[in-house]
Amino acid sequence: MNIVLLGAPGAGKGTQALRMEERYKLRHISTGDIFRHHMRVQTDIGNLARSYIKKGQLVPDEVTFAIVSGALDEAGRENFLLDGFPRNLAQAEKLDEFARIDKVIDIDVDFSVLTDRICGRRSCMECGYTAHVSDLPDGTCPKCGSEMHQRIDDREETVRSRLDVYARQTAPLIDYYEKKGVLVRVSGMGSPDEVFAEIRKVLG
Ligand code: ADP
Ligand code: ZN
Repeated sequence: MNIVLLGAPGAGKGTQALRMEERYKLRHISTGDIFRHHMRVQTDIGNLARSYIKKGQLVPDEVTFAIVSGALDEAGRENFLLDGFPRNLAQAEKLDEFARIDKVIDIDVDFSVLTDRICGRRSCMECGYTAHVSDLPDGTCPKCGSEMHQRIDDREETVRSRLDVYARQTAPLIDYYEKKGVLVRVSGMGSPDEVFAEIRKVLG
């Protein structure tokens, strides 16, 4: 099964992707994670990506697609879970030429909760675990004990432009996939377990 996860920044795509990857044995391809890896080890792609990411803008399509097509090829273009791609119409059309998409799961969250979720998010640089700052009494990762950090794009001034990019460029993809008959919506307003239960109802 080939799946795309849609949803605004802060909707919980990454959290659900980890559960789905394990339960359905899918290859999780997160463009955000791949860019962050490149930034950490300071490749040319990482340095380029950083200049867009820290402003809350999309990394140019050619660069992003090169990364995604490489990862899809590694997966044999089957049994993948795309998280963070596509993010605009051009990317969606390109993806259609490249691989079959069976289901698109839109994690739907009220816009009013997103800013707090994102600005309060802390991420572990070592293992990738994320949690809200209010659930982290001592600032260390509950999974591996490393220090938790705020992503460079999770600051309030950047979050505004990310939400704006989402509304203008990514949200129209809901319609795009609905017309193709592959879209399912789940509410992202519950706890991670509740949201995952909804996803399991859809995927079996
Ligand atoms: P979130 O979904 O919380 O915004 P991501 O980790 O998916 O976080 O993405 C972080 C940033 O990486 C985006 O704001 C964007 O700058 C860049 N990025 C990720 N995916 C794409 C994409 N498909 N196209 C262009 N830029 C992307
Ligand atoms: Zn950790």
